[in-house]
Amino acid sequence: MKLFTIGPTQMYETTFDVRSQQIPYFRTREFSELVYETNSLLKKFMKTSEDSSVIYLTASGTGGMEATVMNCFNKTDKILVIVGGNFGQRFADICKIHELSYDILKIEDNEPLKKSDFDPFRGKGYTGLLVNLHETSTGQLYDIDMIKEFCQQEGAYLIVDAIGTFLCDDFAMDDNGMDAVIISTQKGLCVSPGMALVVLNKRIVENKINKNTIKSMYFDFKDYIHNMGHGQTPFTPAVGVVYEINDMLKYIENNGGIEKHLAVIEKRALHFRKLLKENGMTYPETYTLSNAETPVQLKVPAAKNIFEELKNKYQLFVNPVGGKMQDYMLRIAHIGNLKLEDYDELIDKMMKIINQK
Ligand SMILES: *Cc1c(COP(=O)(O)O)cnc(C)c1O
Repeated sequence: MKLFTIGPTQMYETTFDVRSQQIPYFRTREFSELVYETNSLLKKFMKTSEDSSVIYLTASGTGGMEATVMNCFNKTDKILVIVGGNFGQRFADICKIHELSYDILKIEDNEPLKKSDFDPFRGKGYTGLLVNLHETSTGQLYDIDMIKEFCQQEGAYLIVDAIGTFLCDDFAMDDNGMDAVIISTQKGLCVSPGMALVVLNKRIVENKINKNTIKSMYFDFKDYIHNMGHGQTPFTPAVGVVYEINDMLKYIENNGGIEKHLAVIEKRALHFRKLLKENGMTYPETYTLSNAETPVQLKVPAAKNIFEELKNKYQLFVNPVGGKMQDYMLRIAHIGNLKLEDYDELIDKMMKIINQK
C-alpha cells in the first residue's frame, strides 16, 4: 500500500517505531519536557517568536478551526472569510453557527485571489480575516503578502488555516503578520490523525483571547494557555500523537532542517508535474499551486474509475475531490515518505488505467 494522499500520508519509518511503543502516563516532568521541546521546534519551523503560545487540541483540523474562531472572536467582531473552495466555506459555516458577523470574499472557479478582490471590503471595519492559505480542495496557494497588507491596512487580526501548507511550502508566521495559525497532525507533519495545534502570537492572546468569554469547557484556550505554563494540557491529549509530532519535528531537524525538507517536497511536485505534461495531462495553471499536492485535470469523467482501480489493483491511494469537479479531477500529494520513483510508478499505473478504456 502506498499513500499519495494529503492526509493521512505515507508515514515515515521513524513514526512506526514511535507508534509501536507503550503510551506513557503524561502528568510527569518528562512529558512536560517533551512538550517544551516540541514547542521550540514547532515555533522555529513556523518562524514565530518564543513568546507565541501553542495549543494542543485533541481534535481534527476542523476542531482547531472552530475552536480558534470561538476563542478569537465574539459578536462585536466583523470578519472577512476568503472562500475559494470547501475549506473556506467551512470557515464561513463556523462563523454562521456561532452567530458571528461575517462576509465572504468569494473566488470564482479557476481564478487566483487578486488584489482587486479586496477592494469592495476596504474601509469597512473588519476586525478579523479567516483564510485557508492553501485551499486544499483546489490546490491554490494564496499570496500571503496581499492578505497581510489588507489585514494591516484594515487593522484586522489574521487567522490562517495552514493545515495544507505548513511543512509543505515556505512559511513565516511573524514576518507574514499572522496572529493565529492552525495545523493538523495528519497533513504536513505526516503523523497520525488526532490532534490540531494552534499557534497564537502574544497580541491575539492578550487583546482577544484573554478578554473573550466563551461558552465551552473543552475548547477554552485560556485554560490551555494556563496549563502550558507547566508543559501540560487541561485534558488528556492524544499522548501517543504528541510523541509522534515530537519525533517528526526532530526527524526534520536532524535530516538537514526545514529548508531541505521543503526542497525535497518541491522537487517531487515539479517532477510529477513534468511527468503529467509528458503524458498529455494537465493541472491548473491559472493560479499558484502549493507544493503539497497537484490537482490532475482529466478530459473525460474518469476520476472515480482511476481512483478505484489504483486502489483495488495496485494498492495506490490518491485523493478524489468533491463537488462538481468530482468526475474530472484527482489530487496527488507530494508529502510523506515517498520517492521520485514512486511518482514514476503512479503515472505509469494511471496511464495504464486511462489507456485501457
Ligand atoms: C484537511 C484540512 C482541514 C481539516 O480537516 P479535518 O478532516 O478536520 O482534519 C482543514 N483545512 C484544510 C485546508 C485542510 O486541508
